[in-house]
Amino acid sequence: PFSYTPPGRNHLFVPGPVNIHERVLRAMHVPGQNHRDPWFADFFKACLEDTKLIYGTKDATPFIFPGTGTGGWEAALCNTLSPGDKVVCFRYGLFSHLWIDMMQRLGLDVVVVDRPWGEGADEAALEDILRKDTEKKIKAVCVVHNETTTGVTSDIGGCRKAMDAAGHPALLLVDGVSSIGALEFRMDDWRVDVAVTGSQKALSLPTGLAFVAASKKALEAMKTAKLKRVYYDFADMLRTNPSGNVPYTPSLAMLYGMRESIRMLREEGMENVYARHHRLAEGARKAVEGWGLKLLCKNPRWRSDSLTVVEVPEGVDSNKIVKNAYAKYDLSLGIGLAQINGKVFRIGHLGNMNELMLVGALAGAEMAMIDSGVPITPGSGVARAVEYWQRTASVIKTRE
Ligand code: PLP
Repeated sequence: PFSYTPPGRNHLFVPGPVNIHERVLRAMHVPGQNHRDPWFADFFKACLEDTKLIYGTKDATPFIFPGTGTGGWEAALCNTLSPGDKVVCFRYGLFSHLWIDMMQRLGLDVVVVDRPWGEGADEAALEDILRKDTEKKIKAVCVVHNETTTGVTSDIGGCRKAMDAAGHPALLLVDGVSSIGALEFRMDDWRVDVAVTGSQKALSLPTGLAFVAASKKALEAMKTAKLKRVYYDFADMLRTNPSGNVPYTPSLAMLYGMRESIRMLREEGMENVYARHHRLAEGARKAVEGWGLKLLCKNPRWRSDSLTVVEVPEGVDSNKIVKNAYAKYDLSLGIGLAQINGKVFRIGHLGNMNELMLVGALAGAEMAMIDSGVPITPGSGVARAVEYWQRTASVIKTRE
């Protein structure tokens, strides 16, 4: 048995789980406590209220479930729909595929709209499908906001406009797992009915909480929704949450971490958070240009600010790049998933992240690509990112 920890730290650049800030780690470092002691009720009510910030909502009802994004998907579907209900979902990557798989396994009748991997939701196609549904059989439109497989962000506001243009009453259910808390999300403005995210993404916490928010319309739909639900039943939460109670044991450490993480987002300001993600992503995209490589997402309208998915040249196995990055430089990059495995690698830059962290990953990616036979001039990508960030990075609030 050989145990060895390399010096320095691992450079974590997958699009979730992401880097956890020291402030959040410290907040979670607590002894066991009893959630039935009197302090908990006010604390938990504040936790729920806090999460409204990341959804961009005043009106929705937030829920916090132990679980992950996948559990959030299940909550969104089971609480609003009935067996055999017709739903529409775009498929343009592994996560939209897996959500559709869940819908089918739950007994929903899914109209799958396949899109090329690297493109996003097609609003015109959605409008057309909804217009043709004259009997209003379609009960929900399901959209993955940021497809983490491909680095594509779809336009949820645009999907809402398409639904309105068709005059269709379906619910709008949105997977915001790799967007909410990093990319602009306007639950109230876009009239999203259920929004879902997970703790290990933009909130920069350990994995273990599923965050869900439901509109009034979704809670109305719940009253007649017949899909079976137990652990993820909104009704159990609605019965207990208003008085600061929970139907089962909460993860207190995670809740402490969550409050600290949201406090940090509030201190930064959500508009600054979105701008930072855009700046980081632009730098990463400039590096890709500098390398002479291409993004998987060709159309700028869909380019994700939470991760960058890089196509590798023909004949190069992107898994080798990811392997070299980890083995030589202690850099964790994301592999290409499913049908694009071997063809792309992914650089996550969401959550607790800044320019100098990301430039380390870009440098590591450069070296790992050269190691793997990609003809790249050392510094070609880093130089483009550095030149861009030197011009655009903002002065830290308290250091002007
Ligand atoms: N949806 C998206 C867009 C994701 O990126 C992921 C995970 O990466 C999931 C859903 C599934 O979330 P989890 O792995 O937390 O269950």
